[in-house]
Amino acid sequence: MTQTATGKLPPQNDHAATAHDLAAENRALRARMAYLLEQAERNHSIMTRHQAFDLEIVGASNFPELIGTIFRVLPVISELDSVTLTLVDEDADIRTVMLKLDVVFEDFPDLIFVEGLDELGFDLGRRSAYSPTPKPLLGMYDKLRHAPSFPHAPAGLQSVALVPLLRNKRIIGSLNLGSCDPTRFTPSLGTDFIEHMASIIAICLENVISNEMLKYIGLTDSLTGVYNRRYIDRRLLEEIARARRQQYPISFMYIDIDHFKRVNDTVGHGGGDEVLREVAARIKNELRASDALARFGGEEFVVLLIDANLESAAFVAERIRASVAGSMIALSPELQLSVTVSIGVACLEVGTADGEPEAIGRNLIERADGLLYDAKEGGRNRVVSYRAA
Ligand code: GH3
Ligand code: MG
Ligand code: MG
Repeated sequence: MTQTATGKLPPQNDHAATAHDLAAENRALRARMAYLLEQAERNHSIMTRHQAFDLEIVGASNFPELIGTIFRVLPVISELDSVTLTLVDEDADIRTVMLKLDVVFEDFPDLIFVEGLDELGFDLGRRSAYSPTPKPLLGMYDKLRHAPSFPHAPAGLQSVALVPLLRNKRIIGSLNLGSCDPTRFTPSLGTDFIEHMASIIAICLENVISNEMLKYIGLTDSLTGVYNRRYIDRRLLEEIARARRQQYPISFMYIDIDHFKRVNDTVGHGGGDEVLREVAARIKNELRASDALARFGGEEFVVLLIDANLESAAFVAERIRASVAGSMIALSPELQLSVTVSIGVACLEVGTADGEPEAIGRNLIERADGLLYDAKEGGRNRVVSYRAA
């Protein structure tokens, strides 16, 4: 309580007024305190939720898991009405690799790929990936301008934030946040928090993308882009176990290009490589998505056919043979050559897959290889699917 300069208490009237003021001030302070406390609690809860989110995305072990987590969790913890992600994928490398690793893009309708940085809509200064780091763009939702970032914008979307995803000053994409609250993202709003969030997302994205690339490189043949031997060896074991559980046959084709030495001698090693790529493409063209094609080495390919008996596998093999032999391979308009393949086909019938999967797999490959040998002996450019008695 205040005292006057004389040390006496203020007169009664003044006293009442002061008490009244103080009570009001006290109430205001209390209300302010309550508000701040509520804000602090809210911020704390947001921080806790975001920390849990950060941990979850840092722990994501592959691309679909990371993307799935971002789309599922971020709208909830940040109370957003739309979250989309745009990734710069200049030569479609990311898409190619993810497709090869069986990522189903239809599962992520809000994942957008663009070919170039300028499609992201940021101010890029000198328009180079290394120019001054662009800032997030906050403001009212404009259907015309923002449609590429929000292809499935919910009704009533009012304000948006496009946050650049940066790695070492390089823009790898954009995190796009949308709200039905017009005041949620205004140009004057501080962006530290969303920039921090985007930086964690960018690190996680780069991390899973490079992991997936490594996985892809380890499982594919760099010359033809089809799987390699390591992949088929592993896949064969999985498929043998599955075929046994689910009671269906699997078949295995061993394909070898005829007189490939002559091809190399005629068109050189580079031309030979080109022929390998074209043969791989023609084989692939005859297969179903569930079949796996691999280059086993040199000019040899193998195909693993799921749920295919000997008859249907031999039918597919014959289609492959005909497709390779059917038209010349053009290395240039002047240089065309005709190439043929020989194919051995073996089948693991239902009920015959007892024992160790490794031994069964080896035996299946050996049988197909033996039948391929018979096809070579029989004159090449042919399919052999059973051993003549
Ligand atoms: P066959 O009809 O009996 O199969 O005869 P072939 O000449 O195809 O048989 P062989 O297996 O003896 O020769 C395969 C050749 O493939 C030998 C090698 O020079 C060539 N080759 C192996 N790998 C590659 C490659 O990556 N690129 C190219 N261009 N040639 C390769
Ligand atoms: Mg060979
Ligand atoms: Mg050969």
